[in-house]
Amino acid sequence: MILSRRVILNYLYSSGLYATVSPTFGNITGQKNNHLQNFFKFSVGKINITVVSDGSFTTPISSITINASEEEIKQHLQKYHMPNDYIYRETNLAVIDVEENRLLVDVGGGSRFIGDTGRLFDNLDLAGIDPDTITHVFLTHAHPDHVLGIRDDFDEVIFPDAEYIMSQNEYEWWTKKNRVNEVEQIFQQTVLNAVNSLNALSEVTLYDEEKEVIPGVHMLDTSGHTPGHSSLLVQSAEAKLLICGDALLHPNTSLVFPSWTPENDMDPIKAIKSREKVLSLITNEKMALLGFHFPFPGVGHVIPSGNSYQFLPASIRW
Ligand SMILES: [Zn+2]
Repeated sequence: MILSRRVILNYLYSSGLYATVSPTFGNITGQKNNHLQNFFKFSVGKINITVVSDGSFTTPISSITINASEEEIKQHLQKYHMPNDYIYRETNLAVIDVEENRLLVDVGGGSRFIGDTGRLFDNLDLAGIDPDTITHVFLTHAHPDHVLGIRDDFDEVIFPDAEYIMSQNEYEWWTKKNRVNEVEQIFQQTVLNAVNSLNALSEVTLYDEEKEVIPGVHMLDTSGHTPGHSSLLVQSAEAKLLICGDALLHPNTSLVFPSWTPENDMDPIKAIKSREKVLSLITNEKMALLGFHFPFPGVGHVIPSGNSYQFLPASIRW
């Protein structure tokens, strides 16, 4: 059957899809175009993974890099058809199922963070994941959008029976006695947020090397963004996926200019090295990538492109 233009338009209007096919700039980049359920299931070999969104927030464009002027950043964003007054940050948490283990990667911001975050439990529910079945929680690092959700509104730890795991360097840096008085005033609240979240945990498993966390899932040192920032390497059969936390923040910035230093990279030189390590690892070994702050669901592949890299998002199949 050949559909007439009128039939197609009627279909688009009635299905609510019209806004997404309109070429109008605002319609495709605005913050209110969310019509997806915020989870995404896929497999790496025999390992099942569910991306579960904790929501999203925005930060000023000055947060993107300290290496370029505001005018240069604006021009770059316009070239990539992105808004030029803020950058939109998704928060793609992940649940990894291996045998009897169910590992959650980061917990999001809970009710204490900015923007439209704190949706972990709503989206676990939509994804059909019972929170009581989470056996492990891995924390990539202790920035607030990744750990503030450790405590609920009553200061109780979420997933109290799960084993919490993170890098020893990361844990020890944030929880060092008197750390809050050793940092600049502007950074003190970030330290307090990390300390109060981590101290709520009665027990944390700390690894100082690239350990296997659950079968087929290894830690990878990607420090620099924070002192002990860690990624996870998931491997099953011949398939590999890197869950890179904040080692790469956005495909149109971190992959185009890996040497751009985001405002919140704590050790810029180390962070650049980690970005280069991650990008060469995933392209050399043809791994898939899951970016925590990438546009939802943040899953895809990376290919070299000239002197930089390009992200190829996985297609969502209904
Ligand atoms: Zn983050």
